[in-house]
Amino acid sequence: MLVDEEHIIEEIEIEERELYGDLPGVHLRYNHTDPDIIRDGIDFVAVIEESEEVYRIDYRGYAFGSMRVTADGVEQLGKDLLGNPDPIPNWTLKPETVDADNLPWWVPEETPIAPTISCEVCADEISVRDVLTPQRPLLEVEADMLCRDCWERHS
Ligand SMILES: [Zn+2]
Repeated sequence: MLVDEEHIIEEIEIEERELYGDLPGVHLRYNHTDPDIIRDGIDFVAVIEESEEVYRIDYRGYAFGSMRVTADGVEQLGKDLLGNPDPIPNWTLKPETVDADNLPWWVPEETPIAPTISCEVCADEISVRDVLTPQRPLLEVEADMLCRDCWERHS
């Protein structure tokens, strides 16, 4: 579960198709970096501030839904998903959905907005949202982190 029961105000009935397209709010995405692994879990979350005390969380992946949570709930979600110091974090913010100079209070302070990493094959700087870290060995090259172009060339 994304948020502990005690922080959930209510679950909202929603159709799955309503969770695609142009959604409001701050978007968080699970950073799926291994092209060979199929992961089941929630991989997209939108946080919509309804008031200082009430936040709506829309989510989709292997399960989908929507709920209203308290400020404590959204704080917990922010810490759980973004409070992760890895160079390639498990969850990332969609930079276009936040104001880098005025981040939502529930985003942990040290959260980078648009972190990049360099591809170990071509050395291009790429967004951590685009990097691949395949477990399966590549053909011809050795690399743990690479861009999609290089991966397609060497896998
Ligand atoms: Zn590359």
